[in-house]
Amino acid sequence: MPDRYAVMGHPIAHSKSPFIHRRFAAETGEPVAYEAIHVEPGDFRTAVERFRAAGGCGLNVTIPFKEEAYALAGRRSERADRAGSVNTLWFEGTEVCGDNTDGFGLVRDLTRNLAIDIEARSVLLLGAGGAARGVVGPLLDGLPQRLVIANRTMSRAVDLARHFANQGPVSAVALGALAAEPFDMVVNATAASLAGDLPPLPPGTLRTGGVAYDTAYAAQPTPFVRWGEAQGAAVATDGLGMLVEQAAEAFRIWRRMEPRTRSVIDALRAHLAS
Ligand code: NDP
Repeated sequence: MPDRYAVMGHPIAHSKSPFIHRRFAAETGEPVAYEAIHVEPGDFRTAVERFRAAGGCGLNVTIPFKEEAYALAGRRSERADRAGSVNTLWFEGTEVCGDNTDGFGLVRDLTRNLAIDIEARSVLLLGAGGAARGVVGPLLDGLPQRLVIANRTMSRAVDLARHFANQGPVSAVALGALAAEPFDMVVNATAASLAGDLPPLPPGTLRTGGVAYDTAYAAQPTPFVRWGEAQGAAVATDGLGMLVEQAAEAFRIWRRMEPRTRSVIDALRAHLAS
């Protein structure tokens, strides 16, 4: 019998995690079965307990349950505490353990797959929701010259910048009040792309030859990726690589084995296109 893993979310039908983890299992030869489980809001804790009682070994957690997963985890990694949310759960004895691999996934995609250096770069992070919260710490670990968080609701950007103030040069601004100053890198962690929208960005926000990274991903270039291309970005990409890298880190935590990701990113890109 393979070991059981799953992703829980609401909605969940769109999730690419089963595709990714089944590829990791095939590539590493690990006896892993992976499914997507739809959970109604309010039922998360019960669903996790049921999964565990049925012999489940670990879970990925997506919208809207990452904060509940954080509260549920009795033992949390430093990354989870920093992010205040959990996207990876596993069970050790009677304990529920939690980690957050989203920020790791972004930085791994940037630095290893795309060969982009964060050190000494000026970085603009759009959004202050769950995804943004997960990536601020790992971005600051890359020693940017500065990290500016811009959000539609300014108070959330201020709270987030305050939370990380002792960890690096981070500040906050209202999205609508962004001045036209060129950043080396703009990371879109808003949910705008999911609705086919582009956050309001003044011309000149990204320097020519800079990096535009959308954490959202889609079969077609997102509005933000198109915006980056129009600004003359050297790299304008969506977050498919981040998705695969955060999954690989979860797989490594569960199986103590690091799967190769390049072929899975390519396969997922082809799968999306079809
Ligand atoms: P949340 O709902 O927690 O946060 C949404 C954020 O987007 C808020 O900051 C919100 O601003 C902002 N926002 C929403 N709509 C707009 C808009 N039209 N214009 C400007 N700002 C907007 O979502 P998440 O943080 O969980 O997800 C954000 C994105 O990250 C999604 O696209 C998701 O797919 C992606 N993601 C990708 C991952 C990957 O592995 N590639 C992993 C996790 C997330 P306000 O505070 O004002 O409401």
